[in-house]
Amino acid sequence: QANDLSLLSPETRRALDIPGRLWIAGEPQEANEHLPVIDPSSGRQVGAIADGDAWSVDAAIRAAREAFDRGPWRRMPGSEREARLRRLADLMERDAQLLAELETVDVGMPMWMSRGLNVAGAIGVLRFMANLAGRTYGKTVPVHTPDPEAAYFGYTRREPLGVIGAIIPWNVPLMLATWKLAPALAAGCSIVLKPSEDASCSVLHLARLASEAGIPSGVVNVVTGRGVTAGAALAAHPGVNKITFTGSTATGKQIARAAAENVTQVSLELGGKSPQILFSDADLDKAIPSIANSVFLNSGQVCVAGSRVYIERAIYDEAMERLVRHVRELRIGCGLDPQTQLGPLVSAKQQDRVLRFLDDAVASGVQMLTGDYKVDGPGFYVRPTVAAPKDERTAIVRQEVFGPVVTAAPFSGIDEAVALANDTDYGLAAMVWTRDLGRMHSIVPQLQCGRVAVNTEPFPYPALPEGGRKASGYGRDNGEEAFESYLDTKAVLLRY
Ligand code: NAD
Repeated sequence: QANDLSLLSPETRRALDIPGRLWIAGEPQEANEHLPVIDPSSGRQVGAIADGDAWSVDAAIRAAREAFDRGPWRRMPGSEREARLRRLADLMERDAQLLAELETVDVGMPMWMSRGLNVAGAIGVLRFMANLAGRTYGKTVPVHTPDPEAAYFGYTRREPLGVIGAIIPWNVPLMLATWKLAPALAAGCSIVLKPSEDASCSVLHLARLASEAGIPSGVVNVVTGRGVTAGAALAAHPGVNKITFTGSTATGKQIARAAAENVTQVSLELGGKSPQILFSDADLDKAIPSIANSVFLNSGQVCVAGSRVYIERAIYDEAMERLVRHVRELRIGCGLDPQTQLGPLVSAKQQDRVLRFLDDAVASGVQMLTGDYKVDGPGFYVRPTVAAPKDERTAIVRQEVFGPVVTAAPFSGIDEAVALANDTDYGLAAMVWTRDLGRMHSIVPQLQCGRVAVNTEPFPYPALPEGGRKASGYGRDNGEEAFESYLDTKAVLLRY
């Protein structure tokens, strides 16, 4: 099923008709080359973005440096930065339909998700970070020395880090861009954003709105383009004070290596293979749809997707029967259709990757309990799939598939549940279903990950930090932690 593009608002069609340009120093800039914008529901090209290169990245970093060193942004009162960030949130609300349609046509997600989760989430984070804009408080430090002739006094200042390079993936571009932009700008930094070559349109519109909101030129810059060119140039540039990256673990390692050459700070939000643990006392009527949504949201292309389900043995057969029935009923289709629950995958490449994982699993004897997963074209669809591999070493249990695929296995008792949950290279999130408070408090500290959702889906909330452990990375988006991570401490010692 392909999107009917005549359903798009005139604003969205106009935005797609003009080939995308880079956004540098508050203005659109032409690029020599372009990359196609592909609608994943049909595989057809619907627009184009600029293919930025190392030269474009350098121009954007120079603009961001100029704005940081000589511009008004970091010098203005926090309350003024707060007002302009709030104006940006209001403008996003005004343009919510356009932003959501761009996201749906670019990524494939259903409109209820792009509007209700992605755009709304981005606005929420902006407002939360706007609140923190003035809170760059330091400490006073008493200083004593043996010298009776002199008195000393110490204090610390919290100062913005400088120019931030932000590299983000394609799965929820607007929200992830805002997770970087909002705390960085609230702290007084300037930013160069490099969205994914597979989904850049909404991020470009965000930059335009930042200008309209009165955020000075050069504070927000967007360089679209490929990872190996624009992304690599940003990660290796000596003019950047911090690289904040969200994406795959393999790319995160390359970025950390490149940044190490310049001793640039790095924050990495990487992949996941998050467990969902279902105890036999859980409310299955609530748990089953929620467990399915925790893995199939955005067709499984979510970093915290609960892609491994562990079910207490006593209810294994019943819970599996209900899960498979629920998943078989999920409606796949194009994102503009209001009935759609799961859209297509983002690209032909991603579809091939997911199908390869599933074909290999079938070849090694794994049974797909939901039946055939292939969908005839056009569009990059894969049917949501439940598998129960006998061996926890199977690739679909070990590796991040980043598609609509979940594996399930039984466990007996809390110790085995913890052992299975932690038996992964990753450490992003975990979901636990139990009504027993004691069990809940016993298991949460034992899970090796950055966040735990109990009796709910792991939806993002602006005040709760997001991030991982182990191969899922380090550093945090969201929460006060993210705001603090864009500030540096200067210690001042004075004699009087
Ligand atoms: P990716 O790593 O391929 O690409 C992410 C970004 O990095 C893109 O903008 C890409 O152009 C750029 N890039 C690629 N190679 C680069 C290089 N050598 N140097 C610099 N930049 C480079 O990831 P993806 O396929 O776009 O996204 C999927 C991945 O993102 C999954 O692993 C998913 O788990 C992860 N993710 C994590 C979180 C989180 O919060 N932890 C959130 C969303 C997605």
